[in-house]
Amino acid sequence: MGLSKTIWTNPTEFLRNQQPENPVLFFSPSALQAAARRFIDGFPGMVTYAVKSNPGEEVIENLAAAGIRGYDCASAFEIDLIRRLAPDAAIHYNNPVRARAEILHAVEKGVKSYSVDSKSELAKLIELVPTADTEISVRFKLPVSGAAYNFGAKFGATVELATELLKTVAEAGFIPSITFHPGTQCTDPAAWETYIRTAADIARDAGVTIARLNVGGGFPSHRLSGVLPQLEATFQLIDRVATESFGDERPLLVCEPGRALCGDAFTLAARIKALRDDTHVFLNDGVYGSLTELPLIGVIDRIEVLSPNGDRRQGPTVPRIVFGPTCDSVDRLPGEVPLPADIHEGDYVIVQGMGAYSVVTNSRFNGFGELQMATVLSLRV
Ligand SMILES: *Cc1c(COP(=O)(O)O)cnc(C)c1O
Repeated sequence: MGLSKTIWTNPTEFLRNQQPENPVLFFSPSALQAAARRFIDGFPGMVTYAVKSNPGEEVIENLAAAGIRGYDCASAFEIDLIRRLAPDAAIHYNNPVRARAEILHAVEKGVKSYSVDSKSELAKLIELVPTADTEISVRFKLPVSGAAYNFGAKFGATVELATELLKTVAEAGFIPSITFHPGTQCTDPAAWETYIRTAADIARDAGVTIARLNVGGGFPSHRLSGVLPQLEATFQLIDRVATESFGDERPLLVCEPGRALCGDAFTLAARIKALRDDTHVFLNDGVYGSLTELPLIGVIDRIEVLSPNGDRRQGPTVPRIVFGPTCDSVDRLPGEVPLPADIHEGDYVIVQGMGAYSVVTNSRFNGFGELQMATVLSLRV
């Protein structure tokens, strides 16, 4: 996979000219920078980027150019990537479980912010991380819904444990903060309200004034036609509830979106390899490729189909069973995908909003997964 240096007008122009046999992800730097500006202008605090959602160098470079000054990293690789591409940026090491060697690596790279959700992991940080100017954020979880995928199943302390951890962090001399993640593709802003009010209770019960509150990622991208992410309303709610619940002790706010920054900056084109007996559609990309996430968090319906000449298929939509190219029967898109009745073998299926958890989770299973990238001025077909 490599980023082509030619800039194309839009996906249609590329497809008509190149007739690619492998899946292509189209990247619009201007769409990415616009998403970054929307957060920087609207969010009432520091905007950081969750690198795991798409660690492409072109993504980091464009976010840095747009003014993103902080990065949420989960591994030594991601820390090194950010140090190389955005040397002056803040790194928040917010994977709450780390090997000792990983902690030492982060210390050596000057990382000054860590999250924690357990006593045993906090003990490691106290032992290995110098306290000076270093923040430890206690991550807690609540049984709230609103997201497409529950992050609390793996990480996050209960409210009781978080209160205890926060006291220990402050006593150990670190800068005490709190963090949470409401779950990815969280379309219900009320989730943030519940979390922020609980964070204020935790700080109060611990008797600790927190420096910062990191309200996580989870901000939605545009997956369904006609359902636009209500980011500004969520930002305003976060701002209002932070003041109401913390009062004079209001902490600085941080957010760490992944999907909402990179998701809508990429569009996928997958080719129809076969239309078997006019019922089953076989694409050259699937759940072992860049469509990994669809069975986990639901299908994207922002789909169009182009003929090899770049003409849009206009027929009425028919629900189709869509398979990926591998020989594994789980390599199938969830449910039935509405596709125009007049699709043909060799057509391109265009899926918008494919920038997050796609390139980075693409695998080479069965010898597929040769994903090409192309830069475009506009993602509109
Ligand atoms: C994955 C992750 C994010 C980003 O989540 P999105 O849903 O992509 O916004 C933010 N913070 C942490 C700690 C994460 O693990």
